[in-house]
Amino acid sequence: MPDLILFNGQISTQDPALPQATALAIQHNRIWAVGTDADILALARPHTQTIRLNGRRVLPGLTDAHFHFYDWAMLRQQVILTETTSLAKVQQKVEQAVAEAKPGQWILGQGWNQDRWAVPQLPNRSNLDTVAPDNPVLLYRTDLHLVWANSKALELAGITAATPDPEMGIIERDEQGHPTGILRELAINLARQAVPEPTPVDIDQAVTEAIAAAHQLGLTGIHDMRIMGGEDGLPAFTVWQRLRAANRLKLRMWMMLPGEKLDEILALGLRTGLGDEYLRIGGIKLFADGALGPRTAWMLEPFADAGTGLPLMPMGRIADIVTRAHQGGLSAVIHAIGDRAIRELLDVFAEMLPQQTGSPPLAPHRIEHVQHSHPDDLKRLGDLGLAASVQPIHATDDMAVIDRVCGERGQWAYAFRDVLNAGAPLALGSDCPVASPNPFWGIHAAVTRQRPDGTPAGGWHPAQRLSVAEAVWGYTVGAAQASGQTASQGSLTPGKLADVIVLDRDIFAIPAADIRDTRVQLTIFDGEIVYRTTGL
Ligand SMILES: [Zn+2]
Repeated sequence: MPDLILFNGQISTQDPALPQATALAIQHNRIWAVGTDADILALARPHTQTIRLNGRRVLPGLTDAHFHFYDWAMLRQQVILTETTSLAKVQQKVEQAVAEAKPGQWILGQGWNQDRWAVPQLPNRSNLDTVAPDNPVLLYRTDLHLVWANSKALELAGITAATPDPEMGIIERDEQGHPTGILRELAINLARQAVPEPTPVDIDQAVTEAIAAAHQLGLTGIHDMRIMGGEDGLPAFTVWQRLRAANRLKLRMWMMLPGEKLDEILALGLRTGLGDEYLRIGGIKLFADGALGPRTAWMLEPFADAGTGLPLMPMGRIADIVTRAHQGGLSAVIHAIGDRAIRELLDVFAEMLPQQTGSPPLAPHRIEHVQHSHPDDLKRLGDLGLAASVQPIHATDDMAVIDRVCGERGQWAYAFRDVLNAGAPLALGSDCPVASPNPFWGIHAAVTRQRPDGTPAGGWHPAQRLSVAEAVWGYTVGAAQASGQTASQGSLTPGKLADVIVLDRDIFAIPAADIRDTRVQLTIFDGEIVYRTTGL
């Protein structure tokens, strides 16, 4: 018997067997039935809750296939100063944070840039002392190479006139030799060391708040790329397990494990898919090359202003890891940006896969970013059964640089249309916090290949644009394919998990420029309403 019925909507089920419907019924945490208002409302029983959607557009809950959730959750706790245009605005934000903080709690912030202020002058500690006399404050400049501290932070860090500059760092000082509050490069660590590590309680709180923020954006699933072998790996994985045990994990998490720990992972017998409908081990994450910004992407031909980049790991080593992962039931999830890296990786799979006889991992191997691919190579992606995980919003962030350093070859960057035509499962994501987690910004970027201001007119290499339907597919079915979970996720099909969102506008019908402003009005996760606006 259904617990909840949504009716009078426009439901895009993403299920080819019944693509459109007006009503759906949910029982416990599963889709129970999908169909017409008359058919579905006839299923209602006295205890059934019904919600009239007034013609609103309904989609499956969206999954972001490349996300660094722990980083984002912790970053959200900081004071974000990227939009501040004056010293006074920064002071206002800090004052507000102090009002919400516990006595003596550290206030961390980032994103300020005095060059964007009316008076472009480096600030000092007394500018912060006036609004934060008792709480230590540490504010990273936008480039992260400089911090601005108040007197309390300097005091707790033990930075005084007598403290010498550390190697490769500068403590800025006034005429009397007293620290001004500006710390450059490795002097930042002197202050940073004084900031207490977050406790499990802090982390649970931060992640729970971030989950709620994800629901507001229509996200019900995450493929989490965090869990590098570094010091964040442990807290980033244990928080999910704590929240799951407490029944507070209200996202479907597909966790990557660090590739450099493959020996340990294999020795323990951990395999792709271990877990439950809330938290599962995804694959092992590896890096084939670097990135476009530092010109470390491994390219077939040099950048206009640099060389051809480089592999981060010898391909022979990657071949060994990928083979052992495959045989151990682990999906290999490999970062590859440059066309040389992508080609070499495809060579590895082309050689390895035909030799394997045992059952493959439960999810496909996948390439993360697939950013700059040579047209000769993409067809092999589909032929080899690899999934492509791409981030449309990076395209609009990077297009100017690509035009400059790749010239004509820039047309092969972010070639989403070609990737889709190659027949590879295409999963979309954001790489948050590198970019905004808002999936509607991602859909907008994939569909228009334009910046938010509408430039360039007609879109950047518009032949590579996706339709709205294809972009939505990438955030739903594509993500489910890339994680081998199409039996339970990706579409609104009876028997699948009840993750559903309702939008304030019909993204299939409105001008593409307006998709970016889409708001979610209702988010259902696991059959439970986890976000609802007053408009619905
Ligand atoms: Zn990433």
